[in-house]
Amino acid sequence: MKPQHVDIAVIGAGIVGLACAYYLALSKRAPKLAVIDPLPPMSLTSAASGENYRNWWPHPVMTVFTDFSTDLMEAISNESGNRLHMTRRGYALATRQANPDELLRQLHEGYGPEGAGKIRMHRKGSKSSYQPAISAEWQTAPDGVDVIQDRDILERCFPTFDHDVATVLHIRRAGDISGQQLGSFMLERLRAKNGKVIRGRVVELSRTRNFTLTVLEEDSRTSLTADVVVNAAGPSVGDVAALLGEALPVVNVFQQKIAFEDVRGAIGRQMPFSIDLDGQAIDWTEQERAVLAEDPASAWLTKAMPGAIHCRPEGGDRGNWIKVGWAFNTTPSTPGADLPLDPNFPEIVLRGASRLNPSLKTYYGRLPSRLSHYGGYYTMTRENWPLVGPMKMDGAYVAGALSGFGTMAACATGALCAKWVHGEALPAFARPLSLARYDDKSLMQSLLEGATGVL
Ligand SMILES: Cc1cc2nc3c(=O)[nH]c(=O)nc-3n(C[C@H](O)[C@H](O)[C@H](O)COP(=O)(O)OP(=O)(O)OC[C@H]3O[C@@H](n4cnc5c(N)ncnc54)[C@H](O)[C@@H]3O)c2cc1C
Repeated sequence: MKPQHVDIAVIGAGIVGLACAYYLALSKRAPKLAVIDPLPPMSLTSAASGENYRNWWPHPVMTVFTDFSTDLMEAISNESGNRLHMTRRGYALATRQANPDELLRQLHEGYGPEGAGKIRMHRKGSKSSYQPAISAEWQTAPDGVDVIQDRDILERCFPTFDHDVATVLHIRRAGDISGQQLGSFMLERLRAKNGKVIRGRVVELSRTRNFTLTVLEEDSRTSLTADVVVNAAGPSVGDVAALLGEALPVVNVFQQKIAFEDVRGAIGRQMPFSIDLDGQAIDWTEQERAVLAEDPASAWLTKAMPGAIHCRPEGGDRGNWIKVGWAFNTTPSTPGADLPLDPNFPEIVLRGASRLNPSLKTYYGRLPSRLSHYGGYYTMTRENWPLVGPMKMDGAYVAGALSGFGTMAACATGALCAKWVHGEALPAFARPLSLARYDDKSLMQSLLEGATGVL
């Protein structure tokens, strides 16, 4: 029997594959599309996302890219009656530094020359126009960044924060969405345009006149041909590239999160997504510290830990859950059938988060029973920028390495991928976000020198 033919086959039905298929399907050419995945859509990495978004980056390319993605998410929010539950209380980046010069330099660099007017300083005695994030509505939230160093404002607007915090950078074009709702919106629109979802794993991929994909579902194998293939296989993006004989410069790094019912009301429901930028030594008792230090497997928990632990309310103003995460792992590993969740992670992340919000100490050793501990892989390049654009083989494209920002960047990734595939005019950020950036030695050198972590 002749195999089924599609114009475009998208491999992977996570948020990135769905976004690529959605924006490809919106084209006037109305391509015949199939998305292939052995798992239910949105059930792998995309189900573990913290679902936060922001336009704060130390490099203008990433700022413009995520700003574009936010524009697209806002358009979907408007079109769907905010089905994706987009909120905008911002990101509050807290540090105990009274003069965080390097942070402010990065802030100015990230927002570029036009961004200077968006950065508002609130120092002691300055006539402050700071607007706290009372409403969660994205439509009415301010843009830009408030740099708050006035103690009165800090204590009034961030009452649960550690009193040693001297500076808060409140990034205003930032908040959270429901990634699951965004994914199902895209899937519905795709189906309405006759896009197909095929259940199965692509196990062979070759190209003669067009691509032939062998798809394995349980014990049955089927074939499919396609003119174009988009590799959006998340943590397996490298394995799918290998089926074409290509290597991608990506690794997978496992990260964990917890969400739990804040039964004691430790965190205010209006608190923005809050990040403690400062490194710390975890708050163990002397006895706990001694026990941990004795065992080589746990001694690291008594040493200096990195910053960027984060916490936010989950489930809206009337909910009572909170999410807490800390992407401290930096060791790449190979994803297997089971996630390597560390049973000690909930207590570790709780202790770490209590440094910025000491009210969380009430849960030491007695986290609520309604708790979810989950995780997934940050698929990332060394410089932590994504890969969106052509692969070496003609007709093959990659949309991957979305690390810890794939939910927020999915729309821009999908729209950009569609432009590459349809041969449309490309924005200035297209080349630096594609594999072509590796030919730009000076860009690569500057990225590797300044590579920063992600949230
Ligand atoms: C703990 C954690 C917190 C995060 N928090 C945030 C956040 O706050 N904000 C944010 O923007 N991002 C966040 N992220 C990142 C975000 O979740 C990811 O970047 C995003 O989900 C990646 O989507 P994806 O579609 O590339 O991958 P996935 O969701 O993993 O989808 C890939 C799909 O490809 C399929 N596949 C693989 N191989 C094949 C094959 N051979 N054939 C067919 N199908 C295949 C898989 O089954 C899978 O369904 C977080 C990630 C983690 C792990």
